[in-house]
Amino acid sequence: MTAAQIRMFDYRAELVSIRAEVLSAVERVLDSGMLILGPEVEGFEKAMAESLGGGHAVGVASGTDALIVAMLAHGIKPGDEVITVAATAVPTANAIQRTGAVPVFCDIDPATGLMDLRQVEALVTAKTRAVIPVHLYGNAVDMPALLSLPALKNLLVLEDCAQAQGGVLGGKPIGSFGHAAAFSFYPTKNLGAYGDGGLCFTNDAALAETMRQVRRYGFSKRDYAAGPGLNSRLDELHAAMLHVKLMRLAAGLQRRRALSAIYDRELPSHIERFETTPGCEHARHLYVVKVDDRDRVAERLAERGIESGVHYRYPLHQMPGFAEARTPAGGLPHTERHCARVLSLPLHPGLSEADVVTVCKALG
Ligand SMILES: *Cc1c(COP(=O)(O)O)cnc(C)c1O
Repeated sequence: MTAAQIRMFDYRAELVSIRAEVLSAVERVLDSGMLILGPEVEGFEKAMAESLGGGHAVGVASGTDALIVAMLAHGIKPGDEVITVAATAVPTANAIQRTGAVPVFCDIDPATGLMDLRQVEALVTAKTRAVIPVHLYGNAVDMPALLSLPALKNLLVLEDCAQAQGGVLGGKPIGSFGHAAAFSFYPTKNLGAYGDGGLCFTNDAALAETMRQVRRYGFSKRDYAAGPGLNSRLDELHAAMLHVKLMRLAAGLQRRRALSAIYDRELPSHIERFETTPGCEHARHLYVVKVDDRDRVAERLAERGIESGVHYRYPLHQMPGFAEARTPAGGLPHTERHCARVLSLPLHPGLSEADVVTVCKALG
């Protein structure tokens, strides 16, 4: 096997172009005398909220914590049930379990890979408190359709936007539809930190205030816990660096979309693609195709110096870590077939058009 030449992710190409700005942000924080919950976090939260059309943003330590903080702030507790999908990143369900609630897995629509809105209402019980639609790969769950389901009327709808930052649905930013949304700044994400970070978003001022309490030991005032609490803060250093990168997010997205359009056009016709939700400007976090014999195809790419990935190989309901989760009586057949066939092709702003054409040819 040759060393990989076309990589899945490399933050260093982008760093070359923003290095001076990032380092000056770091120096500004180091010289400020303020390292936790200061002006940098506040400024970044304000910019994030603006990018989502207004509302309230609360910086936390990771995307996983953003989900946990939002659920705790809503009052989710042991014994409650939270509906999501099993074709997602593990942390979506880690977060549910961390609140003491039980994950309930809905099957996916195989065409989009997203929660099947025809099946979700049947999973609602007297214990259900929340639904977490996951905007997987950067494609939007049809949020207006989800929010109009009568059985979901009194539930918290918490959007998992870890893979969908910058995406749009019907002219509105992904993340601005539900009662709350969770974003991740894990380095590979569309807005990646140089380390971990995350953010809760909501249009509900009272919920935002409780989120701020939860991320800081449950404090409503100094040294006084008014409710459940964690230590989960976005720190000043990361906020300052993320703010620099947020200003470049639009350019990165444009690049991701341009490269994806080349995949759309140049991939051999026998390679199966996902459908994009109508009205969605896809955030293009990942470019994922469906192939039989997935691992052989990945090996063939590797032999040509092309990295690939699998998001994700194991359906969550089959993992020992989620043995307590509930699944529908008919199982999750579409989820299982999806996980057996998905293959993620290289996609990040540092790739060239020629790289993408090379990948397409290698799949011919
Ligand atoms: C990355 C990711 C998360 C978790 O984010 P972290 O910042 O790694 O904690 C949650 N959900 C999805 C769908 C993700 O891709």
